[in-house]
Amino acid sequence: MHPLYQAEFSGRYLDAYGSAFGTLPLAAQYGFAIIFGLVIGSFLTVVVHRLPIMLERAWQAETLTEHTPPAEHYNLAVPRSACPHCGHVLRAWENIPVVSYVLLRGRCAKCHARVSARYPLTELATALFAALSLFAFGPTWIALVAFGLCAMLLAMSLIDFDTRYLPDSLTLPLLWAGLIVNLGDTAFVPLHEAVIGAIAGYLFLWCVYWLFRLVRGVEGMGYGDFKLLAALGAWLGWEALPQIVLLSAIAGAIFGLAATGIGKMRFEEPLPFGPFLAAGGVITLFFGTPFYTLFG
Ligand SMILES: [Zn+2]
Repeated sequence: MHPLYQAEFSGRYLDAYGSAFGTLPLAAQYGFAIIFGLVIGSFLTVVVHRLPIMLERAWQAETLTEHTPPAEHYNLAVPRSACPHCGHVLRAWENIPVVSYVLLRGRCAKCHARVSARYPLTELATALFAALSLFAFGPTWIALVAFGLCAMLLAMSLIDFDTRYLPDSLTLPLLWAGLIVNLGDTAFVPLHEAVIGAIAGYLFLWCVYWLFRLVRGVEGMGYGDFKLLAALGAWLGWEALPQIVLLSAIAGAIFGLAATGIGKMRFEEPLPFGPFLAAGGVITLFFGTPFYTLFG
């Protein structure tokens, strides 16, 4: 059990929110968590693929003149998922990437074009987060919201990695959700630490950004990164912020050097910072702040 949050799991909350689920055998609890994770993961692959396209279309509709033809329906539900090569519309069972990937050996059922391994991997990662949340926080509503945080962070990381852009439609609701979750002072941190965390997270990266711009004339980050760190501050409190920034800076530096080393990236190329902030947030969520104990 989590050392930092352990104190919060008083019997009161277990009784009120997790009693029915908590009486199931452990295997059933984890089985349910993993299936739930796979289903949410399947939805995340759709969000990651479609949300940037939806935002791009909305932006075009606003900026272009009356000559633009009316766009056909495109959102998270419509049209149904199809193979990008042959247009084969996926049947219901093919929408669960892990299942279809294994059964079809990573190929489209109709034209046999290769399907990216990223879809089943995203699903597996989401299922892993669901199991981890249950393991760390027990059969409580805190486990459920912790999983929600992980799922949002995963979707944002993939979108940032693809597009170098963190949509407001994800970062801002995540920030509000963090404040709401901590409202009762009984989830992750007391509310005042969450509020200060949201403000400090935004301001800290905002200052770093302007410092870099003024001193070196480069833009190392975007405003989406400020909002993401603000959201992490709202969920995990201001005390978690130095560790999250430190972890993400180290991970980003190692990844950047490795990617330049094997020639996958040029040295000057900016790195999307969102995935590293998200990783720092997930580590802090599950392991607390061992860095502070480590360095006194
Ligand atoms: Zn196909």
